[in-house]
Amino acid sequence: MAAPTVWVATAEGLVVIDMVAIEKAVNGRRSGWNLTRDEARFAAQIMLDQGIGYSTVVQRTGASATRIKSWFPEIKVPESMARPGPRATGPARCGTRRGYAAHRRRGERACERCKAGNAAADLHYKLTGSYVGAPEVPAKVRAGVAA
Ligand SMILES: [Zn+2]
Repeated sequence: MAAPTVWVATAEGLVVIDMVAIEKAVNGRRSGWNLTRDEARFAAQIMLDQGIGYSTVVQRTGASATRIKSWFPEIKVPESMARPGPRATGPARCGTRRGYAAHRRRGERACERCKAGNAAADLHYKLTGSYVGAPEVPAKVRAGVAA
């Protein structure tokens, strides 16, 4: 049986991630194998959103502290008991579960970002039991990271 995978749009384009690998890593069951860079980033985001400690995120993803800092510069290190903030209200943005639902309500086909955002939210729900803090799929606008 093929591993369930999901496409996610990133700054570097569409990437495929293995949900089983991410689930194992998030639950601390990664040993002797590594996540891809994209999977590590996704897993790190889920754990940080859950308020899992920074050092645990480093250990479970196998990504270096420097790399995680570069992915999530807004995270305060090391005391990043990051809680999801109050849920943003207002117009649904593309790349989110709400954006996906908004497309459907308007009778449209969801755009790729919203499809990926919805899939990511489903995975987040599966892992955490909540849609709160689900990752958002960013726009593919930045070719590189500003120095
Ligand atoms: Zn959309």
